[in-house]
Amino acid sequence: MNKDLFLQAAPILQEIQDNGYEAYYVGGAVRDYLMDRPIHDIDITTSASPDEIEGIFTNTIPIGKEHGTINVVYNHENYEVTTFRAEGEYEDHRRPSEVIFVRDLYKDVERRDFTINAIAMDNQFNIKDYFNGYSDIQNKLIKTVGNPYERFNEDALRILRGLRFKSQLRFEIDSDAYKAMQEKIADTEYLSIERIIIELRKLLEGTDASIVYPLLNELQFFKYVPFFKSFNTSAIEIKDPIKLELLIAIMSFKQSSNISLSMLKISNDSKKKIQKYITLFNKLPDIKTKKALKVFVYDYGISTLSYILDMKDTLAANQIELGHPLIFNIESIDEINQNLIIRQRSDMMVNGKDILESLNQKGGPWLKDVLRNIECAIINQEIPNQKSEIINWVKTHVEI
Ligand code: ATP
Ligand code: MG
Repeated sequence: MNKDLFLQAAPILQEIQDNGYEAYYVGGAVRDYLMDRPIHDIDITTSASPDEIEGIFTNTIPIGKEHGTINVVYNHENYEVTTFRAEGEYEDHRRPSEVIFVRDLYKDVERRDFTINAIAMDNQFNIKDYFNGYSDIQNKLIKTVGNPYERFNEDALRILRGLRFKSQLRFEIDSDAYKAMQEKIADTEYLSIERIIIELRKLLEGTDASIVYPLLNELQFFKYVPFFKSFNTSAIEIKDPIKLELLIAIMSFKQSSNISLSMLKISNDSKKKIQKYITLFNKLPDIKTKKALKVFVYDYGISTLSYILDMKDTLAANQIELGHPLIFNIESIDEINQNLIIRQRSDMMVNGKDILESLNQKGGPWLKDVLRNIECAIINQEIPNQKSEIINWVKTHVEI
């Protein structure tokens, strides 16, 4: 089991204890450690108040002080140290705005979502497991801390988180919890789209996404989610873990809809990726020759194309066919990529201004087409990437 990250953080726990308070590792890191899975970030929970933590350590950042979280910078690493909290009243099935700091670990773990996430561990690697999370880990079971109806009623995101953990950890959902999910699923309507997207991404990228995605449909989850509610999500099939952007592109490509991506509040980068996949699907049927593949590799790049190839089972399940395997295969794409004469527009030895000057013309929509034709001709090695040669080619080939 990989103890490295815990050992690196151990002096922080020790320091807190030396000052007379309790401190534990908690949450995903403890769960993943006990499962012998890779650990990413370590969360520390403590009986010390945020002010007391700031008093103990010299280098701190109050990133979420009102919620009890102080970042402690130690050996150039950031550690989130959060004061034991009990949660106040829930409103609208979302997380409460009010935060109550407490001195009792039990109260803190009692408000956590699942038993597997409610295990605390001290710097001697002793666990405090009030809700038998360790036995649920061994039985591969996702069970809420306490009554699932109440816990999902308090915060409907837990429904999606439970499904996300099933996908990532390949666990089963306890049958009472699943029944409660069925009953409370409509409350996901109250959640912010940002919180949904964070969990949905993790769910879709989880090992068992192909099993959990149909459960989302069975629960009719997407009915309550902006954007997705406009699609027949049951008609889409997932064969492997998938990036959110690719799933959205498949849906949009298969079931054209006018609904705007802006409802999802995802980054512009994500939106661009989705558009890129959609144009790619539209062009795929035209990739019948090596020559066509060259420009395709230039336009979409090897990382996107190799990802698309990795996802061919899911694409095929949704009737999106890749080109013939003799043409569209990773070896050909790799070879073309290594030998590309230019990789981007700016690698061309001429720009729009050069063209206008050489033809003595004013700009217009035609210029875009000319630049694209030059670009393709260079990629296909019909003209060398040299200014004088390109200008000559333009003069003989372009009619305005
Ligand atoms: P990951 O490995 O993906 O980070 P995680 O279990 O650490 O998984 P986080 O979202 O980082 O998940 O949350 C940290 C911990 O906070 C959880 O393990 C759980 O104890 C608690 N938690 C997070 N979200 C909720 C919630 N909505 N309701 C109750 N407890 C929660
Ligand atoms: Mg975490």
